Amino acid sequence: MLLYITITGMNQLKRNRKHTRKVIVRGLGIGGDAPVSIQSMTNVPIENVEGTIRQIQILADAGTDLVRIAVRNEDSIEYLKKIRAAVDTPLSADVHFNYKIAIMAVEAGIDKVRINPGNIGSADRVKEVLKAAKDHGVPIRIGVNGGSVDLKKYGVVSPGTLVESALEHVRVLEDNDFADILVSIKSSDILQTIEANRLFSEIREYPLHIGLTEAGFGLSCAVQSSIAIGHLLLSGIGDTIRVSMTGDPVDEIAVAKKILESVGERKAYIRIIACPTCGRTDPSLNIRALAESVENELRARFENELRSRDRSITVAVMGCEVNGPGEAAHADFGIAGGRDGAMLLFSHGKKLRKILAKVAVPELLKEIESVIFQ
Ligand code: SF4
Repeated sequence: MLLYITITGMNQLKRNRKHTRKVIVRGLGIGGDAPVSIQSMTNVPIENVEGTIRQIQILADAGTDLVRIAVRNEDSIEYLKKIRAAVDTPLSADVHFNYKIAIMAVEAGIDKVRINPGNIGSADRVKEVLKAAKDHGVPIRIGVNGGSVDLKKYGVVSPGTLVESALEHVRVLEDNDFADILVSIKSSDILQTIEANRLFSEIREYPLHIGLTEAGFGLSCAVQSSIAIGHLLLSGIGDTIRVSMTGDPVDEIAVAKKILESVGERKAYIRIIACPTCGRTDPSLNIRALAESVENELRARFENELRSRDRSITVAVMGCEVNGPGEAAHADFGIAGGRDGAMLLFSHGKKLRKILAKVAVPELLKEIESVIFQ
């Protein structure tokens, strides 16, 4: 059984992470005792150097720990050098088949290479790539997905054939005494992805990059990725994650962060809870808008301070004062809807005072500031 749950406190459950061999990517640990990291990938052509640099910076500012860039041909290397010189973010080169590009990317200062060694060709070519990677301390990620399973050889795409395809490449590296390996095994099918990663994690200790491939966009991508990645993380599997979302890659990061917070892998400094509202909510109140406003204001004003103090708060926005304070008794602070333009300000389920709904957000913020930051 891979899901181990340890009771660490009254209401706290903690996942027990499977041990993997740590690799270092420009100072970023992946695997072992390193926190689960967030990855993304640029979708600007590498020839657009300024655009790529800008996108990497936006992704890094949003919370991405490692950014992958498609390096398609030898001409890309000159652009890669300029990008490398402009950013400190750990960078991974995505290289297909061409061993020379892999070597050139390593020599240009890339921090990790995604290439499948079984596709490089002769043993000599493999050795050349591995020598360059070793000389520069660059790990290699093997990436297998449904499309990379050799159907002539294996017949079907299944968790077992996905794992066997990954192992084919892993063995090439192992036969050459190369151990700085990461592996990703992805499918667009949630259950297949979960099962393949579970199988692989039972037979090798290399850090796993987890996620779905071709996961789509928007809500559908967020839900499906959360199920697959969340299930694996809660089973103790996964060292770095990517939410592959069609569109602007920065949208992936909010989902990835929320997944890590939800499984307890990252601390949520601000947690907003809100009821779904029901017939008890005064129709003049827009609880959804209030909750969004509370979250935005709290993040803008207090998140950095809370992080620096390593303190978390839970804030509730509830539809009625009849049940709201009781249902949100675990919240540090909250507001609940009343009648005739009034709301109730409460803390840990206890009434503090009546406030006007139109000034509920500033009143709530004032209360939080006075209690937490005095
Ligand atoms: S807190 Fe009140 S308004 Fe919200 S769901 Fe519960 S009973 Fe309904």
